[in-house]
Amino acid sequence: MRIIRSSRTLSAWSRHLHREGVVIGLVPTMGALHAGHRALIRRARLSCDAVVVSLFVNPRQFGLGEDYSRYPRRLRSDAAVCQGEGVDVLFVPTREEMYPPGFGTSVAVQGLSRRWEGERRPGHFEGVATVVAKLCGLARPHVAFFGRKDFQQAALVRRLVEDLSLGVRVAVCPTVRDKNGVALSSRNQYLTPAQRRAAPVLYAALRAGHAAVRAGVRSASRIRRVMRDTIATEPLARVEYLSVCDPDTLEPRSRITGDAVLLGAIRLGRVRLIDNLLVKK
Ligand code: AMP
Repeated sequence: MRIIRSSRTLSAWSRHLHREGVVIGLVPTMGALHAGHRALIRRARLSCDAVVVSLFVNPRQFGLGEDYSRYPRRLRSDAAVCQGEGVDVLFVPTREEMYPPGFGTSVAVQGLSRRWEGERRPGHFEGVATVVAKLCGLARPHVAFFGRKDFQQAALVRRLVEDLSLGVRVAVCPTVRDKNGVALSSRNQYLTPAQRRAAPVLYAALRAGHAAVRAGVRSASRIRRVMRDTIATEPLARVEYLSVCDPDTLEPRSRITGDAVLLGAIRLGRVRLIDNLLVKK
């Protein structure tokens, strides 16, 4: 496995592979890799000839007062994970490499970034869209892999790639959970033992909402109430939002008539957890 730190070197690598007709898969990450990231890497390994994993804690997607400086950074163990998964290139740029002096572009995906995470984390999705556009420009992947765990992010990346004709296929992979149902996240390590015990309540609420739909409930406000009541059983948890949305536009629905997605975000102390569940018609 090659570790590349410079943008120019990554560009040269991908140019060379394109000339050879090699299919490139890109897995963008912020590191502190867990089984969720590994699942994306494995999907990429299975469907592409060459796999590049990027490892970059992107300052532009962190808001003021968020955890940019304390976000876990573990290059050595992340590199070992990537090596073990057969990754070809690990791209580890510095902040200056990604955003050199004079960098003046910011990519905003209107509409899809307005609600939910976008509303609670101003600027977050502009940071995400900008870094994804930049990474696609450098690695020129045929396929880029994202996790369904960040449902709104995946929808937004699809829109970005389509709108800017980036020529990349977006593959969205299922959420990997621990045995209690909690979606794996690099931020779960911030949880205290008590918060850790409370964390499964979010997925439990989504499942309760899902079960209500299966039982024939169509009113979004009733489904939201079911989810809210589940969260209320856990005194440590504070709801940020629980919504019933159209899975493509992420606009809230008042009634379920086709496919829908249940989106949820809670706070356990200072830690935010997000999760979602698709409801198929
Ligand atoms: P991050 O390092 O948190 O920016 O995540 C990098 C990629 O891994 C994103 O596409 C995430 O959606 C995806 N991801 C994170 N956690 C999970 C998970 N538990 N299951 C599947 N994909 C995940």
